[in-house]
Amino acid sequence: MAEPIIDLRSDTVTKPTPAMREFIARAEVADDVWCEDPTINSLQEKVAKLLGKEASLYVTSGTMSNQIAVKVHTQPGDEVLCETSCHIYNYEAGGPAVLSHVMCRPISGRHGILDLKDFDGMIRPPNEHFVHTRLVCLENTHNRGGGKVFPLENIVRITGWAREHGLATHLDGARLMNASVATGIPAIEYAKHFDTVSICFSKGLGAPIGSALAGPAELIVRARRVRKVFGGGMRQGGMAAAGALYAIEHNIDRLREDHENAQVIAQAIRETDGLRLDPPDVETNLIWFQVEPELGTAAEVAQRLKSRGVLVSVGGPQTLRACTHLDVNRPQAEHAAEVIREVVPNLSPKPPRPEALAGQTGY
Ligand SMILES: *Cc1c(COP(=O)(O)O)cnc(C)c1O
Repeated sequence: MAEPIIDLRSDTVTKPTPAMREFIARAEVADDVWCEDPTINSLQEKVAKLLGKEASLYVTSGTMSNQIAVKVHTQPGDEVLCETSCHIYNYEAGGPAVLSHVMCRPISGRHGILDLKDFDGMIRPPNEHFVHTRLVCLENTHNRGGGKVFPLENIVRITGWAREHGLATHLDGARLMNASVATGIPAIEYAKHFDTVSICFSKGLGAPIGSALAGPAELIVRARRVRKVFGGGMRQGGMAAAGALYAIEHNIDRLREDHENAQVIAQAIRETDGLRLDPPDVETNLIWFQVEPELGTAAEVAQRLKSRGVLVSVGGPQTLRACTHLDVNRPQAEHAAEVIREVVPNLSPKPPRPEALAGQTGY
């Protein structure tokens, strides 16, 4: 009999639970372009409160939320400072260039984490040769950095410096609630240092659709207009927002279980020859790991795991990512760990084949 599928490719694969569907079915809705959808209005108020901001805006995706933020903070020709492996720069199809006509200046961190010294000399002098440095974007938790929590002290130093120099600040908090649950630091304590903050409901929080951008009321009014331009004005969007509302009411604290389950899988990887956790410490629900070339490629390992029902995503020639979420319980995490321990050491050792690069996925 085929083993059950345990899908660790992403925390975006979660499906609405019966209780969430029930809540969605009962949601009161109206035209949100006219600001009349009570479910969206209620969600937006709750998110603003959760993040300690005057207002928030429900949008279709984390990408839209980030790109609206870039747009409202910049003018064409401005420059955005961000971390080299961040989502805004790597995984949003060139949005800053396409939609806002800005340059990104990537700064390399350590597993996505930056500190103030990394920003030394990064503000361009006022001179007609140079772009205007305008915006700093950080990401917490940092996806490509291995689900690392951006330390609050670093955030305080970087955003304090940014403010001193008249730069706007935006937090890509797609998984901010994971950071908050992992550290016990309320989301509001992270959020208060940024002008705008984006959070995703469709990742670990388990809603089917949507993100929100929170910030000062005046800025969110402008964000609404940009959302309209980007084609993101929704009518009875409460049908989707109800899932998000349910998610923030029920699914925040349980992220702890995802983090515990991630430890179970991380331990199996740690103890398996030929695999190496990178970063070595798993802090939240994302587990990034390297396949030693002697063992084969990441795609080959992913294929073998798949043959035993465990799906992981390929993030590079030797890079894999596993991700725990609402639809993976403890027994499933334990089973996935067992499959890793069994399957990987039994792969026949092969010489490295760097040319065998699979299509890269895993955002
Ligand atoms: C997933 C993600 C986003 C947004 O993704 P969408 O698929 O557009 O919702 C933004 N930032 C980070 C760090 C992410 O992981």
